[in-house]
Amino acid sequence: MKLLEFEAKEVFGREGIRIPKGVVVRKGEDLPPHLEEIGDRVVVKAQVDVGGRGKAGGVLMADAGNASEAVQHLFNAHIKGVPVNSVLIEERLPIEHEYYVSIAIDRSKKEPVILFADTGGVNIEETARTNPDAIRTVAVSPLFADVPAFLLRELTGTAPAGVRDAVNRLYRVFCKNDALLAEINPLVTTPNGVYAADAKLIIDDNSLARQGIAVNRDLTEREKEAEKHGFSYVELEGEIGVIGNGAGLTMATLDLIDHFKGRAANFLDVGGGADQERVKHAVRLVAGMPSVRVIIVNLLGGITRCDEVARGIIEAGVSQEVIVRLAGTNEEEGRRLLAEKGYRMLGSMDETVRAAVEATA
Ligand code: GDP
Ligand code: MN
Repeated sequence: MKLLEFEAKEVFGREGIRIPKGVVVRKGEDLPPHLEEIGDRVVVKAQVDVGGRGKAGGVLMADAGNASEAVQHLFNAHIKGVPVNSVLIEERLPIEHEYYVSIAIDRSKKEPVILFADTGGVNIEETARTNPDAIRTVAVSPLFADVPAFLLRELTGTAPAGVRDAVNRLYRVFCKNDALLAEINPLVTTPNGVYAADAKLIIDDNSLARQGIAVNRDLTEREKEAEKHGFSYVELEGEIGVIGNGAGLTMATLDLIDHFKGRAANFLDVGGGADQERVKHAVRLVAGMPSVRVIIVNLLGGITRCDEVARGIIEAGVSQEVIVRLAGTNEEEGRRLLAEKGYRMLGSMDETVRAAVEATA
């Protein structure tokens, strides 16, 4: 789950990283009085979870006296297509230098990896492209509670000690919060010390319960519904709904759709032992996506009984065509039930997927 900048800054602040003085204003709320206590000069920042807000007009400079204009401007704007529901008004830092630090998981090394550059700020993507050597990288064993000093030096080079300290604190944030990403760009030096001018934190969805986060607000309504039923479900951009059992079979179905130049609308793995009720919920869930024009049900009966599956599909009674491939336990009975109702059943995965792609062509 992605945190907004002001939420991430709160977490960073608790770990002893310096963050600018600031206040959050939600759409419809009045500006708090005495903004000048934050600073005479301020930055007004759209709180939307997209990167590159600065370049997209989501970060405005203002004075405490006229901040309300900048605030109104952002509430009326879309930043990269995303509406602005809250803004952060912060003291404007007298920035001397901008650094970049980002911590993520290196999945091949199975360790957190820290990226650091002396040239942080809004052009970091360009730096990564044109001068990748400017971004230094170290992997840290997750068994360490702190980044070993020699690695910090290797990473940060001649940057001041306050920068090294902030990088180490960010590493603690990363570990304690089960993060997938913890980033400060820019991490800045000012005459008053080192500050996180920006903040990004993404928490691993699998750790939300452990982190005490009850709802994953990044999920769509349908994704929440899927979670309730215990389906593995991801929404995609296409028109072909997909229901399979087992991640492997479901992924293979997606691959085949791509092979035949179709576009999948989703990934849905109903899991093992899917009974009539589960299949019904799965079919209705997928059919509920407005983009879905045809649905593939690709199930192998082991513990799952094909007649249960057939009953679930029939009971779901959705308006889109459901093309079925069933194999395994009680296959004959399942086929008989579906044939009675006029469902198309095809023998191989190739035929099934091709039929679905043709139906959306
Ligand atoms: P992003 O574009 O979404 O990454 O938003 P940032 O919060 O990183 O802001 C973009 C840029 O605005 C930064 O790289 C800074 O150059 C500038 N900026 C942000 N906060 C301040 C500030 O307090 N003082 C000054 N002088 N510039 C700032
Ligand atoms: Mn930034």
